[in-house]
Amino acid sequence: MSGHKIPLAGVIGSPIAHSRSPQLHGHWLTTNNLPGFYIPMDVSPEDLESVLRSLPRAGFVGVNVTIPHKEQVLELADVATDRARRIGAANTLTFLPDGKIEADNTDGYGFLNNLQAGAPAWEPTSGPAVVLGAGGAARAVIVALLDAGVPEIRLSNRTIARAEQLRRDFGEKVVVHPWENISQSFPDAGLLVNTTSLGMVGKPPLELSLQTLSRQTVVTDLVYTPLQTELLRQAAAVGCTAVDGLGMLLHQGAPGFTRWFGTEPVVDDELRRAVLG
Ligand code: NAP
Repeated sequence: MSGHKIPLAGVIGSPIAHSRSPQLHGHWLTTNNLPGFYIPMDVSPEDLESVLRSLPRAGFVGVNVTIPHKEQVLELADVATDRARRIGAANTLTFLPDGKIEADNTDGYGFLNNLQAGAPAWEPTSGPAVVLGAGGAARAVIVALLDAGVPEIRLSNRTIARAEQLRRDFGEKVVVHPWENISQSFPDAGLLVNTTSLGMVGKPPLELSLQTLSRQTVVTDLVYTPLQTELLRQAAAVGCTAVDGLGMLLHQGAPGFTRWFGTEPVVDDELRRAVLG
């Protein structure tokens, strides 16, 4: 048996062609002069378990997981981090030497690191956070914000039942506000986050008036295609600090890379350019 297998990692989803993770991890492998490869893999839900169980035998040390497998992999994993369990989904799997699969969710970590890098003056305790959307990304954002010490989450979603479910899951610091009157929850907010897919290329626009927003409010969008969304453009126009969503993607990749390849990678402008292609 060889003790010097070239470490392999990758991203599993379906479809997968759009994923920027190969550019992200490929850049880190190259700039750190590390042996290894990172490969996109289109895998159907029916094949997911057998693929995951066989990858370690081919030299894989771990994989990222994206739509539609993020919930299913949490069920399949042998061990999971506390944050992955609370979010209810995983995006980073590590194949342990004893054959077990460990699941983690680094989306909230990536969100918070991007926010702190783009708005260093933002303090979690600076006021309530307004969160738009109640899908998978919202769950990760809410867990990260609550853990960071945000006093209140004002949550709005088109389908109110989904927002109410998040209140039941994450407790009374989550306060549900009607989607129709979102802007009423803006005054005194420390943060406004769009976690819906509105504003993304090919999706309807996010129609919001930011007139009631204080200039102290930091605004961030998880959508990063386009990089400069209409929400961020409007936020900058009213004098708010605006943080784009690309950095969340970059930062969420770092814990997996460190674990798999043994080197902590850097998120910088060169990486942004490499990933934007
Ligand atoms: P998801 O689970 O499918 O949730 C989609 C959310 O968007 C739901 O709240 C949904 O509301 C809302 N929505 C969709 N169409 C809408 C419409 N026409 N009007 C009002 N609301 C609408 O998706 P997700 O995984 O949470 O991802 C959400 C977005 O975040 C995507 O654009 C994704 O690319 C982005 N994202 C970015 C990063 C990053 O690294 N920057 C990471 C993760 C996700 P309903 O509940 O009413 O359907």
